Amino acid sequence: MNPGAANSDLLARSARAVWHPCTQMKQHETLPLLPIARGSGVWLYDFEGRRYLDAISSWWVNLFGHANPRINAALQEQLETLAHVILAGCTHAPVVELSERLAALTGGRLGHCFYGSDGASAVEIALKMSFHYWRNCGRHGKTGFVSLTGSYHGETLGALSVTDVALFKDTYAPLLRQSAQVPSPDWRLAEAGESPRDFAARCAQSLETHLEQHHGETAALIVEPLVQGATGMAMYDAEYLRLARALCDRYKVHLIADEIMVGFGRSGTFFAHEQAGITPDFLCLSKGITGGYLPLAAVMTTGTVYRAFYDDTTARGFLHSHSYTGNALACRAALATLDIFAADKVIETNRAKRSALSEAAASIAQHPRVRNFRNTGMIWAFEAETGDPDFARKFHQAALNRGVLLRPIGNTVYFMPPYVINESEINFLTAGTLDALNKCLT
Ligand SMILES: *Cc1c(COP(=O)(O)O)cnc(C)c1O
Repeated sequence: MNPGAANSDLLARSARAVWHPCTQMKQHETLPLLPIARGSGVWLYDFEGRRYLDAISSWWVNLFGHANPRINAALQEQLETLAHVILAGCTHAPVVELSERLAALTGGRLGHCFYGSDGASAVEIALKMSFHYWRNCGRHGKTGFVSLTGSYHGETLGALSVTDVALFKDTYAPLLRQSAQVPSPDWRLAEAGESPRDFAARCAQSLETHLEQHHGETAALIVEPLVQGATGMAMYDAEYLRLARALCDRYKVHLIADEIMVGFGRSGTFFAHEQAGITPDFLCLSKGITGGYLPLAAVMTTGTVYRAFYDDTTARGFLHSHSYTGNALACRAALATLDIFAADKVIETNRAKRSALSEAAASIAQHPRVRNFRNTGMIWAFEAETGDPDFARKFHQAALNRGVLLRPIGNTVYFMPPYVINESEINFLTAGTLDALNKCLT
């Protein structure tokens, strides 16, 4: 089959047999799928050799590029040794080493690591563990959860119940448990002249009012530290996390940090909560944990939580499991990812990349139809000022025509490139984006 035919053959079969995620399938009658034959570094290639810069890191998971030689080598070795084994009653070296190294990265404060399969399962685990902790402590009334407006924590029923994105949630409302939402410190919502930090402090007062009234029935506050991703890359001041931590301590409510997107260097520090100088009671990790190779999630917690489950009674234990818990291949990919962080001093080298990309994006930031250009670590976002309800689809297509894969959220365009992006790729990304913007905003 010639490459062009291979492309279209795959498209037709995919649209028939594969039910694609987060997609109204009928739209693929007019909007073609992108057939990907292979990946290398920041690039994705179709069967005809056309390439696209993966500026969204394949849904925010990829850190060190596609087909990374070091992760590939680690996985090949692991494949020859052990792919998977049941983690109830058995253990293996990659899961032990990963748990130890992740704990060390929290300064030993979150020394117990429970594994899941993907982000949503990590959130389910944290919610259940928090509730069960209070129950084991005799606090049977603490069954509720609080999250921020615009929060996104995944789409299984428990995770969706603390999510606040109407498009994903409203249809399933009859299936969901009520949770409370308090105002997001998203600085775009600040009053004129109010600093992000002052606005964060004002939002924390709303949290305080809520906890004052409801702490007796509240198990945990769950937040996406510093950047609320799926709602449209809402960014906020670390002051909010500091104040939220203090309030959670005062009112005996757990703080769950959902770092599924912002963890692993994405926020500019290894974990985002570090920027507030705090430690959460639960830390949810996934996405970048395996460098974007394999599904894996971890929920890390404190000795205090762990000890509340440690007992002679079976039912006081955390009787939760997923078949692929602690998968050896995925843990090995995660270890290879941590090795790259250490060997390449990634947190430091990303600072230079961050400045380079921000500089290259200056003409986008100054575009007369661009609003709220913002950046946290290796995440950049802005709003395109347009009344076109079809902007996201048109921009996506215009960027693809320029060799850049982007998926705007409504009018919000964001960059979340793999960390291996180099200077010429940065310039390719920003030039293509500017061009696509001019094409869509005329
Ligand atoms: C992606 C994401 C999730 C859900 O992870 P999945 O692997 O898609 O289930 C949860 N929380 C945040 C902050 C996320 O970005």
